[in-house]
Amino acid sequence: GSFDAMGIREDLLRGIYGYGFEKPSAIQQRAVIPIITGRDVIAQAQSGTGKTSMISLSVCQVIETNVHEVQALILSPTRELATQTERVMQAVGNFMSVSVHACVGGKSIGEDIRKLESGVHVVSGTPGRVCDMIKRRTLRTRAIKLLVLDEADEMLSRGFKDQIYDVYRYLPPELQVRL
Ligand code: AMP
Repeated sequence: GSFDAMGIREDLLRGIYGYGFEKPSAIQQRAVIPIITGRDVIAQAQSGTGKTSMISLSVCQVIETNVHEVQALILSPTRELATQTERVMQAVGNFMSVSVHACVGGKSIGEDIRKLESGVHVVSGTPGRVCDMIKRRTLRTRAIKLLVLDEADEMLSRGFKDQIYDVYRYLPPELQVRL
């Protein structure tokens, strides 16, 4: 398989190749097309197999960059993972002016508010802070079309179930979900 054959937008392909990837890993080959064609997907893979990159590039693919609203929300169990996903997304999305914000605990709330109000396309965060930002109406959810639960099993075992459900209640009903 090749990234060229996957129907990925040109500016994102440049970012993927620019980042140094030549061909999709196994999980990328299996999960990217179902995700970008709008299906609900559950994908399971060992860490280090290209999962974060798979999430990053399929999220980038579905963003309409001329729409200045949050269109994708990624929830992760740790601040490090949420921030790592933000970084990979900025790297592969380098040529498509996608704006990504890591919304995680332990960082300044004022900074979060400023960034979110500037109009970001993607939020990669931990459940507590994301929930907080939604309740303050700083993170507007009406344009969100996809939700990614990264390491969903880990989030459940860390006791995030109620917070995830809380976030989910604020999302539009036509949402696409990936775990
Ligand atoms: P990830 O699970 O996405 O964090 O990826 C694990 C490691 O593999 C990271 O160093 C990635 O940069 C690298 N990687 C992910 N996907 C690919 C790919 N398609 N080609 C080459 N390296 C990759």
